[in-house]
Amino acid sequence: MRAYDIILKKRNANKLTKEEIAYFINSYTKGEIPDYQISALLMAIYFQAMDDEETANLTEAMMNSGEVYDLSSIPGKKIDKHSTGGVGDKVSIILAPLVASAGVTVPMMSGRGLGHTGGTLDKLESIPGFRTNLTKDEFISNLEKINVAMIGQSKNIAPADKKLYALRDVTGTIESIPLIAGSIMSKKLAEGIDSLVLDVKTGSGAFMKKERDAVRLAKVMAAIGKKMGKKVVALITDMDQPLGNAIGNSLEIKECIEVLKGRGPQDLIDITLELGAYMLKLAGKVNNAAKGRDVLKGHLSDGSAYQRFREMVMLQGGDVSAIDNPALLPSAKYTKELLSKRNGYIVKMDTEAMGIASCMLGAGREKIEDKIDPAVGIVIDKKIGDKVKIGERLSALHYNAEDRLAEAYKKLQGAYLISSKRPKKRRLIRRVIIV
Ligand code: URA
Repeated sequence: MRAYDIILKKRNANKLTKEEIAYFINSYTKGEIPDYQISALLMAIYFQAMDDEETANLTEAMMNSGEVYDLSSIPGKKIDKHSTGGVGDKVSIILAPLVASAGVTVPMMSGRGLGHTGGTLDKLESIPGFRTNLTKDEFISNLEKINVAMIGQSKNIAPADKKLYALRDVTGTIESIPLIAGSIMSKKLAEGIDSLVLDVKTGSGAFMKKERDAVRLAKVMAAIGKKMGKKVVALITDMDQPLGNAIGNSLEIKECIEVLKGRGPQDLIDITLELGAYMLKLAGKVNNAAKGRDVLKGHLSDGSAYQRFREMVMLQGGDVSAIDNPALLPSAKYTKELLSKRNGYIVKMDTEAMGIASCMLGAGREKIEDKIDPAVGIVIDKKIGDKVKIGERLSALHYNAEDRLAEAYKKLQGAYLISSKRPKKRRLIRRVIIV
């Protein structure tokens, strides 16, 4: 078999066989096919797509590119959650310890920033010392001790996804249903879970801009999960504005700490409780999602979720003094305010542009080898539906490199649409798909 022939076959809109898919995944993982050929194949998949059978075969090949964990020695159901990616989407960092504090085991494997969206691993690593590269033994031991561990893909778990993810991030090949489904489901199936809750984002800051594409992606992922004997619940949620008020790695950690301490922005709390409620239901801890929400609210207000987060940070090598006193987390040297130029209501926020503005400040990568700046990003004061006056602050850019500011400021400025007409109220949770 030759990579070249597989590229041509997909470029010409033909269906790839299971063997062809396994060949390019395995050879790429071993370093036998160069990045440039895989980049061309990813672009062919982006344009020509894959059918459900090809997508399932892709997922299976990616999952089998490494080790598949067996967590059956840990009692109880193991439940994870994964988001398709958004701007300001820091939910996992609150949700994993919160659900663990309710007695459910959460073996969470997350990703780095992708395109204009932030990544849970990059955010966690803004906590000084925090290790996301636990060994398998450390991962299992932490799950046994405190029910939760948050890790990245080791070179043993879905290594094909690790390489493809980094390549997609810099080759304009992210927004593809088979590639997103394969990426998410391969690592989730490899981590030894029983069930999965998916947060499938739709809107200007999501990879799936249209709700019908988000629903299609959710159904493809749920079908793959079902085929592999896992229960999957998918929530279709709004990403037409950033989640919470912070965008950027340590800024988002600070906001997570607020929520874990029983405060913080309501949209972030609501979505966390909803996803967590379904995790509790899948684990058999509650009979319905409403009861799950109540249980989790209690754990946010009585401090047990925060305590579990603190334990997780400690066990993963993080500096807990920076959690107890978030002023010790990385902070940018400068801030620049963006002020409203007119009176009216915020009717639209181009959320992808806001994510890009944050990346321009250094919160994301442009090339695989780029280092991110954990301190930079954007803090938002006004969101859709808010009334604003001329001169009032809409948001503030937190930056370190002066030469990055002008471009990011312009991008952020262009992201707001202000009008005299108050917009309709938005629904954060659009649909729940249960398989
Ligand atoms: N999250 C992932 O893990 N992979 C994707 O492709 C998108 C979001």
